[in-house]
Amino acid sequence: MAATDTTSDTIAAISTPPGRGGIGIVRLSGLQAASIAAQLVAPHQPLEHARARLADVLDVDNSRTVRDESMRIDEAVVTFFAAPNSYTAEDVVEIAAHGSPVVLEFLLRRALELGARLAEPGEFTQRAFLSGRLDLTQAEAVRDLIDAQTLTQARQAASQMGGALSRRVAPVKQELVELIALLEAGIDFAEDDLDVTPQAEIARRIDELKPPLTALEASFARGRIVHDGLTLAIVGRPNVGKSSLFNRLVERDRAIVTATPGTTRDTVTERISLGGIPIELVDTAGFREGARELLEEAEQLGIRRSHEALADAALVLVVLDATQPRNDEESRLLSAVEGRPAIVAANKSDLLEKPFSSGSELGAPGPSHLGTGEAASDGLTFLPTSALTGEGIAELREKILSLASGGAAAEPAMLTNLRQHQAVATSLSALADAAKANAGGIPHEMILLDLYRALWALDSLTGQTTPDDILNLIFSTFCIGK
Ligand code: GDP
Repeated sequence: MAATDTTSDTIAAISTPPGRGGIGIVRLSGLQAASIAAQLVAPHQPLEHARARLADVLDVDNSRTVRDESMRIDEAVVTFFAAPNSYTAEDVVEIAAHGSPVVLEFLLRRALELGARLAEPGEFTQRAFLSGRLDLTQAEAVRDLIDAQTLTQARQAASQMGGALSRRVAPVKQELVELIALLEAGIDFAEDDLDVTPQAEIARRIDELKPPLTALEASFARGRIVHDGLTLAIVGRPNVGKSSLFNRLVERDRAIVTATPGTTRDTVTERISLGGIPIELVDTAGFREGARELLEEAEQLGIRRSHEALADAALVLVVLDATQPRNDEESRLLSAVEGRPAIVAANKSDLLEKPFSSGSELGAPGPSHLGTGEAASDGLTFLPTSALTGEGIAELREKILSLASGGAAAEPAMLTNLRQHQAVATSLSALADAAKANAGGIPHEMILLDLYRALWALDSLTGQTTPDDILNLIFSTFCIGK
């Protein structure tokens, strides 16, 4: 990764994905971007800031005056952005050629021959960050936007790219700086017998800083889910309809469904998007044969796999057969999910003579042999479903979504990665230390140390105090050409 002092280089990269495409873009940034571009392509009109220009791509040195149609290997649109009004705040040239890998590679090779250096992953964005055009949360949002798999993720990233997270932190930082200034002034003037800020005033000011930061820290629970999605394990005995429900949820035949228990040989996973949240569904069947003598073994294996899957999943969907009495293994499975975000589907509801109403608790009146009613006390809602008719599937989706989002409403700015969360958590813990020191009547010099720690952590959120090696690590996770 480029060190911060190499920004005087001009960097170049193919910014579009590898392979053929309608259009392919070669991007240049740095002092020599325009002069290199002038030798790479022959624009029909002079390059001008933020204006697209048609240009010929010639397979020879463009400085030659005599040109011939046969020298042309492509026609491109070239856009020049003059510093500082560009993505990187440096001179930037984007050459949008037809997306043939040979033409793009030719352009890149020529650019390197002409003095450009191959850009490292994320180096364009890193330059935007180093020039102060983006802060670190905004730069991370650029990566998140490129990686977005749902529109909700894209919306979230775009809002963070626009500075939403930094704006949410800014007023807290401002107040913290004011408190620090107050204490610093108090220390400076203490010898002159000026009033020192009273303990109660300091306590009040520290207390005021906490709620916005605590709320921000809490936003990580949802931010992480929007960012990373989560895993939903579908567990239960063989033949209760796990694969069928799985297919209903993914809306196509991804898992194999048959009437013989045990044909889903391995765990099957599929990613779906529910309300914009990516959810990885894991179907945990996994039995080899449906032979009767193996059934008991298969049951054991199935239950074991269910328990293993439970350990890893954020959400659990326990599937029961509404027409069958609950066995001991199922009871154990239900107690294993107690207290966790779980949904219990009483599947094959279509086979019941009188399907019970949606959302009823286990043991509700009806012809079902589902159980004795004791499970009603564990707080789990039993949702009647039919993978066959589709009954209860919409409710099931809704229930999954509400569990996934934890019932929380979308916020304008959320913490979406561990780095951001740690910054806020560190700040909060430093504030707690400051409050304690203040309550203990410890000298202001010492309280200031804690307050500076809290400020430093907030600054690291936006990248102001993030060490270079961490920055390099962050930008190395970007695409080349961004
Ligand atoms: P799994 O072993 O738990 O994954 O169960 P499957 O999804 O393979 O289903 C077992 C059998 O039950 C298959 O014959 C399915 O067609 C049938 N089945 C699944 N769900 C339903 C349902 O809601 N109603 C009815 N009548 N049959 C179902």
